[in-house]
Amino acid sequence: MKILLVEDENKVGRFVERALAELAYTVRHVTTCAAARDALADSPYDAIVLDLGLPDGDGLVLLAEWRASGFNEPVLILSARDAVGDRIRGLNLGADDYLPKPFSVDELVARLRSLLRRQSSGPRATVLEHRGVKLDLLSRIATCEGRTVELTSREFALLELFLQHSKRVLTRTMIAEKVWDASYDLETNLIDVYVRRLRQKFERPGGEPFIKTIRGTGYQLA
Ligand code: CA
Repeated sequence: MKILLVEDENKVGRFVERALAELAYTVRHVTTCAAARDALADSPYDAIVLDLGLPDGDGLVLLAEWRASGFNEPVLILSARDAVGDRIRGLNLGADDYLPKPFSVDELVARLRSLLRRQSSGPRATVLEHRGVKLDLLSRIATCEGRTVELTSREFALLELFLQHSKRVLTRTMIAEKVWDASYDLETNLIDVYVRRLRQKFERPGGEPFIKTIRGTGYQLA
């Protein structure tokens, strides 16, 4: 999946770029209307994340141009202008969603994925991958070096979380929040049980570890 990110605030742009790249999206980050026009003329994109206040113009003008030229992929607007009027204008011009700044990157990612999921009824898939393990988020199939691995929905959610944050240590609290919502009792060792199950499913006996234990902190993909 290729995402065009149009955002002139470098810090915000880099943050969003990194979050999307971690999910295996290919991101092209541009900071002006002119560069955004060039990028879209250059190559196709599966979605656009568009800031409105750009140094050389208004993101809404770009949006109107793109829609008029037949660009049908999802566009998510990011903007400090959270006034109802702007939001309505954006949606009328063909934006699919609107996120007022400041926003949480997790929310941006969730909304973008939901737009992409709605959009992709065909063979396009969102696949997370790490060292031979692939997780297809649309078909919900996990494979390890090509063979299908059966997962319960909780195991799937836990593996998805690891693959989304493949370079990060996941604390037990974070895992509990994301995979068990509020229902998790931190006094239990359920997370360790589930991590052990994933290890059994994705590690070869005597082979390299797939998930490392970070003592006192949590777990990380190896
Ligand atoms: Ca801006």
